Amino acid sequence: MAPIIIIGAGLVGLTLAQALKKAGFEFEIYDRDNSLEERPAGWGITMHWALPALESCLPAHVFSRLLSIQVDPAEGGKENDCYRFLDLETGQDKYRFPSSTHYRLNRKAFRQLLSTGLDINWGKRFTGFNPTEDGVLVKFDDGSTVEGSMLLAVDGKNSRTKRLLIGDEKAKLNPLPVAFVGISLRLSPEKMKPFRDIHPVLWQGTHPGSGYYLFFSMLSTPQSNGSAGTDDEFYEGQFNMSWLIDRNGPLPKSPADQLARVKQAAASNTGFFPSLRQAIMDIPDNSPMLEIKLEDWPTENWPSIEGRVSLVGDAAHTMTMYRGEAANHGICDAARLRDELVLWRDGKQSKDRALDKYQMEVKSRTHDAVIMSRYACLDCHDLNSLKVDSPVFQVVGFNALAKQARAYI
Ligand SMILES: Cc1cc2nc3c(=O)[nH]c(=O)nc-3n(C[C@H](O)[C@H](O)[C@H](O)COP(=O)(O)OP(=O)(O)OC[C@H]3O[C@@H](n4cnc5c(N)ncnc54)[C@H](O)[C@@H]3O)c2cc1C
Repeated sequence: MAPIIIIGAGLVGLTLAQALKKAGFEFEIYDRDNSLEERPAGWGITMHWALPALESCLPAHVFSRLLSIQVDPAEGGKENDCYRFLDLETGQDKYRFPSSTHYRLNRKAFRQLLSTGLDINWGKRFTGFNPTEDGVLVKFDDGSTVEGSMLLAVDGKNSRTKRLLIGDEKAKLNPLPVAFVGISLRLSPEKMKPFRDIHPVLWQGTHPGSGYYLFFSMLSTPQSNGSAGTDDEFYEGQFNMSWLIDRNGPLPKSPADQLARVKQAAASNTGFFPSLRQAIMDIPDNSPMLEIKLEDWPTENWPSIEGRVSLVGDAAHTMTMYRGEAANHGICDAARLRDELVLWRDGKQSKDRALDKYQMEVKSRTHDAVIMSRYACLDCHDLNSLKVDSPVFQVVGFNALAKQARAYI
């Protein structure tokens, strides 16, 4: 049988490849990037309810290394840890909850770990496919082609495959009326201290007067990035700010103006509480800025062309990051798809049926999750009306999801 073709070596494509490898499938994985190094470090990822699904996809020696790639291996995964959402004017907790079992992972290190033992075909940009008698012919922009038994597209939120399957109009993402900017911080222990003092791994908060929302996450510590004991000890962090465009205007275009805007937000109105305000004022002018367009796509059906093509991960369910669960869903997709494909390989169901069952489960699990993330994204900008039952805090169906995920162990 021809191999299964995976397009996309992001977090979810790599997890799917590991799952297929572990289950003994023939597959090939392709990505348009030239290597894992091509994209910047990016952001931290919280793995929570999908940890059991992830464990089922990975070889034991890879899964056991997750603890070591936490953004702060010393602080991460502590018992009695808490989740803090602050009032940014006073610095006091608006909400504080005990947190469930989770790992906060450095995204780049996570991708590296997930690529362990995989032979990835880099520099291959997928352009399209043709159905063949019992599979697909997959095409790349260098003119090459490869034959597969099916195409599993894990090609991210702007999925070309999705557009080919349902057309540009239906595949269009919904823009949200929210401006978002991220800043990659590389700071000395002294300059990072005010951020870490709030919580050493991650925290969030909103200013009650201006509606500016902050999300802060550690990315590395001197111990984990190897600078401990040198003259240049540093921490890396991810500082994100967002606001409703109607209320505070659009995101400025240039990185310098974006940083100026963040500093102005910290100082304006009644301002952020003093230690945070000073820490923001001290952010170096040359810090790399990351602009993310906030868009979503509540999952809709796509044709599998009689068991030849499917969508996985962000390609199947684009959601904002305000509930921190898009990758958790993607990893659950991978485990679920592997299970259906095993039944197909073992002659217990047709390929068509396998992809249809997979798609039904993904749609029922993720359509509302996309909407919940949209509400979380809108809710978090108004501290005065932010309630404890907001989707910002409530993992709706968490127990059901955790139970479902545990079934994979
Ligand atoms: C700031 C931020 C914080 C987040 N925090 C969390 C969190 O805490 N928890 C959580 O669960 N999720 C979180 N997420 C979401 C998470 O990052 C994504 O859900 C996840 O990375 C999606 O993985 P993916 O593999 O589906 O897609 P991607 O990571 O987008 O990977 C797609 C891959 O496909 C490749 N590709 C695309 N087009 C082609 C083509 N034509 N040919 C070949 N290759 C192609 C790309 O190069 C890429 O490698 C966060 C997202 C953001 C932006």
